[in-house]
Amino acid sequence: MRYSEVVKAYAEIEHTTSRQRIGDLLAALIARTPPEVLGRLVYLTQGKLYPDFVGVEMGLAERLALRAVARALDASEEQVRKNLAATGDLGATAEQVLRRKGHRARRPLSVGEVYERLDRLARSAGPGAQGQKIELLRELVGDASPEEARYLVRTATGKLRLGVADMTLLDVLAMVYAGGKQARPVIERAYNLTSDLGLVATELAEGGLERLAALKPQPGRPIRPMLAQRLGSPSEIMQRMGGACAAEYKYDGERVQVHRLADGQVAIFSRRIEDITHQYPDVLESVRKHLRPRSAIFEGEVVAVEPGTGELRPFQELMHRKRKHRVQEAIEAYPVALVAFDLLYADSVDYTPHPYPKRRAVLSKAIESTPSLCLATQEVVRSAETLERFFLKAVADGAEGVVCKNVSEHATYRAGAREWLWIKYKREYVSAMADTVDLVVVGALHGRGRRGGTFGSLLLAAYDPEADVFRAVTKCGSGFSDQDLQQDLPRRLEPLELPHRHPRVDSRLVPDVWFVPEVVIEVIGAEITLSPTHTAALGQFRPGSGLAIRFPRFTGRYRDDKRPEDATTVAELAEMYRRQLRQLPQ
Ligand code: AMP
Repeated sequence: MRYSEVVKAYAEIEHTTSRQRIGDLLAALIARTPPEVLGRLVYLTQGKLYPDFVGVEMGLAERLALRAVARALDASEEQVRKNLAATGDLGATAEQVLRRKGHRARRPLSVGEVYERLDRLARSAGPGAQGQKIELLRELVGDASPEEARYLVRTATGKLRLGVADMTLLDVLAMVYAGGKQARPVIERAYNLTSDLGLVATELAEGGLERLAALKPQPGRPIRPMLAQRLGSPSEIMQRMGGACAAEYKYDGERVQVHRLADGQVAIFSRRIEDITHQYPDVLESVRKHLRPRSAIFEGEVVAVEPGTGELRPFQELMHRKRKHRVQEAIEAYPVALVAFDLLYADSVDYTPHPYPKRRAVLSKAIESTPSLCLATQEVVRSAETLERFFLKAVADGAEGVVCKNVSEHATYRAGAREWLWIKYKREYVSAMADTVDLVVVGALHGRGRRGGTFGSLLLAAYDPEADVFRAVTKCGSGFSDQDLQQDLPRRLEPLELPHRHPRVDSRLVPDVWFVPEVVIEVIGAEITLSPTHTAALGQFRPGSGLAIRFPRFTGRYRDDKRPEDATTVAELAEMYRRQLRQLPQ
């Protein structure tokens, strides 16, 4: 198939705004395309060479493409730049200048050849790659007609932008190859299972709907994730779920789909179907060690956790980690855990048509639970009251709410769909801790990385007047300025350092240094939660757990005006916690 034919269709598509007309033009183009190049044509039409998860990007920098175009046109870069300023589009510039020069295609280009040459361009890497890319584009533009050059340059710079959506292409494929809209569900299912439009088009063209219907998940090919609906109250949820559901903690992190191939290779895909394997070498390691099936596809949430205790940390911590360039450093500063919540495939069995309880049962056997890889906390509930109680527990443990899952036999895994089989219920109504608290500094942990040589975080305690002790409630590492870290804190705290815990301090967490309880600072937190790490009001709300302040932040105020016995008391914190619970939705 000639590339010039494709380009003619692109030019028409570009000049229409009617979706119907775009569909018709595409249908005509696809109908003329031989099956063996259809896949490549589909990628090219979307301005790429592969499905997104493959991670081969075309995006040649415009600066380099400009040089290539100038060389191909035998023009100066300055000339090309001037024209570009007028058109705003390097593709149009290339076309115009070539036309002006009376340039003609050296020879007809086929779609297959164009694809291959663009692929070479996209893949050239390493030293000398820039020069190579420029040269490849120069040759390609030189061989092309002015009109072809327009689209080649746009494609090479990642700016084809015909605006053809995945869904439009699915419609068109149904129309051309399967007799119309009634075939759409089968085609869409195939797309949801493979995330690869080129593959779907080729399989359909070569093997018909039957071939598509028989497609199975395959490790290495990401599946489009199932999504959740939302409702505002436990009673509505229970009604929708028909009286019973599996309630799970809603973890606030990054959703991932983990694939282990039969050859042992592990890949991690994001919710947007991008390959993010390289971001989580620590997760890879625990999957390698603790996942039992040889090949599998499962889903979970990567969450930031407190080193040592494994308590959940806020989403922002995970974002901090993702922004770090040195992965090893990031792993140490922001440890994560992978909390698994669904299983789609294991050892040649496709579990997507199985009901959720079955998938969860297989998942729980597939994973050897460790602090770095574990199962989402779950409880099967049968009343709005039990759901509410579970929700409160989830929030107290640092989750952002719950995801309720249908447990009927119809509750299959619906790839790419937002349906009522999953319903989320979040703690959006809960206001932040209304008041600041004044806490006593009883210990500190050494800083790491940028904070090396100073305090990384302070162990803070509330006062318990009955026992006359200070009970730890939180570890606070934010809100401190450089001046605080380098001068104000050391000046106050160094004279109070102790080699062991002060007898009036009660803490399960053991810091790097202890202090005489003396310095009082003002702190604001997001909320008060229950935690097994801290000892204030231990056992009062839940056996084995005390009260803790979540996401504490130093306000900048040293309460030198307060004695440690004037700090916020454990009873006051307990009262704040009760008030907070009353604010939760009924
Ligand atoms: P949302 O992103 O707000 O639509 O909520 C659904 C998201 O919750 C999923 O995409 C997951 O990233 C996340 N999530 C956290 N915990 C769970 C869980 N136990 N089951 C399913 N999804 C979960």
